[in-house]
Amino acid sequence: MKTALIVGGGVFGLAAARAARALGHATRLLDPGPLPHPLASSTDLSKVVRPDYGADDLYTDWMLEALPRWRAWNARGSRPLFHETGVAFLAGGAPAPGGFEYESAARLAARGLDVEPLDAAAIARRFPQWRENRFQGGHFHRHGGWVEAGELVAWLAAEAAAEGVELLPGRAVLAVHPDGHGVDTAGGPLRADVVVVAAGAWTPALVPEVAPLMAPIAQDVFLLSPADPAAWVDARHPVFGADISTTGWYGFPLHPGGRLKIAHHGPGRATSPDAPRVTPVERVAALRAFLADALPGLVDAPVAETRVCFYADTRDGDFLIDRSPARPGLVVAAGGSGHGLKFAPVIGDVVAAVLADGPHPARARLAWRAVAAPRQEDARQRR
Ligand SMILES: Cc1cc2nc3c(=O)[nH]c(=O)nc-3n(C[C@H](O)[C@H](O)[C@H](O)COP(=O)(O)OP(=O)(O)OC[C@H]3O[C@@H](n4cnc5c(N)ncnc54)[C@H](O)[C@@H]3O)c2cc1C
Repeated sequence: MKTALIVGGGVFGLAAARAARALGHATRLLDPGPLPHPLASSTDLSKVVRPDYGADDLYTDWMLEALPRWRAWNARGSRPLFHETGVAFLAGGAPAPGGFEYESAARLAARGLDVEPLDAAAIARRFPQWRENRFQGGHFHRHGGWVEAGELVAWLAAEAAAEGVELLPGRAVLAVHPDGHGVDTAGGPLRADVVVVAAGAWTPALVPEVAPLMAPIAQDVFLLSPADPAAWVDARHPVFGADISTTGWYGFPLHPGGRLKIAHHGPGRATSPDAPRVTPVERVAALRAFLADALPGLVDAPVAETRVCFYADTRDGDFLIDRSPARPGLVVAAGGSGHGLKFAPVIGDVVAAVLADGPHPARARLAWRAVAAPRQEDARQRR
């Protein structure tokens, strides 16, 4: 029987572990622990799940494959973690060819999904929280929503354990062996046929050769306490992107506990995931400016909590799921680039294809690559 060591217990690592196990490998997963790890990107109150990917056919089609699996996971779990409440993407001006909203809506409609176009009047009628006429168009559909991300990690870990993956929280990997067939831990070295490094933002520290492609980037998440929680439930305020390719702001309907989550998808800050995690005051000021501009009902809402979360950000925004060209035993599954969690149900398919050297439509895009790639800002337009 082949052996696999999986480094990291976020959604990429758990997907990799389950894929290796399904191939018949004796599989162990190492993480500093506890699982879910509180500092992992996957361990969050919520993440957006949406098939809107602008003009990017690969990620659009891959998400349309993932959505039925999210629904199947809902049916299997003791309670649904994926809340398919719908998503609204609003554009500053009228959506136009080449723009994220226009291209997303066109692609989803072409694939037979019902997509409701919105103009300024429809936005005011359907979603009255937005400043009138701030957004001139966009679309809404019900093929997406949000997932309880940290709860999902706990559920996936339990599924993996039930399938025979040996979970070893409390075992951090200190180094990967030069041939990729083993790792060093405080408890001694471990060897295996394959080592899959899925350590999210910590991946470049463990596999330095990916550093030119992938970097840890800090991003800020805000939880507000609105004075009138009932006004922010999903029927009036669904998951949104607020002209996201221009402003970077996106958010969620009211979460259990009366918190409203808003976050920013932007350049972020290049720093270590082990550095103290503090939200800069200027980021709170940027949030307040966005609220004043777009969501006047939240201008005075107290910020109940902030969280610094790390992207494992690649230069081109594509994940990296491939075998190292230089270290035969090493596979990397990382580079979520701020949009990886929604692919949790399908990431394992690519890992399985890499382990078995089989085909998968995403393999070429996610392959080991040099970095003569678009700037981050260009990639962000696409995501
Ligand atoms: C602010 C923010 C918002 C986001 N929003 C969305 C969204 O709305 N929708 C979406 O789809 N995606 C979103 N993402 C992206 C998504 O969260 C990530 O792509 C995904 O969670 C990455 O999972 P991962 O398993 O690669 O990394 P992680 O979840 O970070 O897991 C890495 C694991 O590796 C472990 N590890 C670290 N070092 C070691 C070591 N030395 N040895 C062993 N294990 C180690 C860690 O403890 C951790 O458990 C967002 C990310 C951020 C930061």
